[in-house]
Formats: sequence, structure tokens, C-alpha cells
Amino acid sequence: MGSADCLFCKIVAGEIPSSKVYEDDECFAFNDITPQAPTHILIVPRRHIDSTDTAGGADKDLLGHLLLTAAAIARDKGFADDGYRIVINTNADGGQTVFHLHVHLLAGRPFIFPPG
Ligand code: AMP
Ligand code: ZN
Repeated sequence: MGSADCLFCKIVAGEIPSSKVYEDDECFAFNDITPQAPTHILIVPRRHIDSTDTAGGADKDLLGHLLLTAAAIARDKGFADDGYRIVINTNADGGQTVFHLHVHLLAGRPFIFPPG
């Protein structure tokens, strides 16, 4: 999918409303509309990337920034010590439904492993 019809590009652009948690020059974070845990935040790059499958070397710093931003949000919101789960779903078997790369940050309950 191109960025023109991308749901998360539209959220980043403010064309579709979201519950913003954090933003900076590189990324935008907002609450998931169907939370799977008491805290369920999505962290997305401002620049459209379909998935980890299509990401490349030019995205290395950006991918690192998404993970560190998730950790910083967890620390800032006070659930880092209790713990949290970071998830990136990729393609069909990975359960990806929105093809704009995003990091799920889940917290507020224990998570089993392996996930279903
Ligand atoms: P994934 O299945 O990994 O592609 O995750 C997509 C996530 O986007 C799901 O957890 C959805 O609940 C979430 N989602 C879909 N539409 C919206 C929206 N308009 N605002 C916030 N989250 C959304
Ligand atoms: Zn997009």
C-alpha cells in the first residue's frame, strides 16, 4: 500500500483523529483504538514504511528510535519497572493489519510467552 491511502499516515497528518501520547520529529505515538491491555500505545514513524519486511539500512536509526521511544514512554508513564511488552507484527502470519510499520507498547497486565 502507498502512503496516500494509509490510515497511519493520515493519523500522523492529523487528518484522522487519534489520542496522542507523544510526538517528535521522527515519530508519533497514540492510543490503540482497540486496546489489548490497560495500556496499549502505537508508536509509528512519521515517514511511511510498510513493515519490517520492507525496511532497509536507511531505516536503521529510525527503527532504533521507535524502540527507544517505546522505552522512554514506559519510563515516563511509570510502568517500566513493572514491565511491558513491545510487539511488531509483520505480514499475514504475523498478524499485521495496518501496513505502516508500528510498534505496539502494551502494559498494565502480565503477558504470556509465546504469544498466541
Ligand atoms: P497490526 O494488527 O499490528 O497491524 O496493528 C494495527 C493496530 O491498529 C490494531 O491494534 C488496531 O486496533 C489499531 N488501529 C486501527 N485503526 C486505528 C485507529 N483509527 N486509531 C488507533 N488505532 C487503530
Ligand atoms: Zn503510512
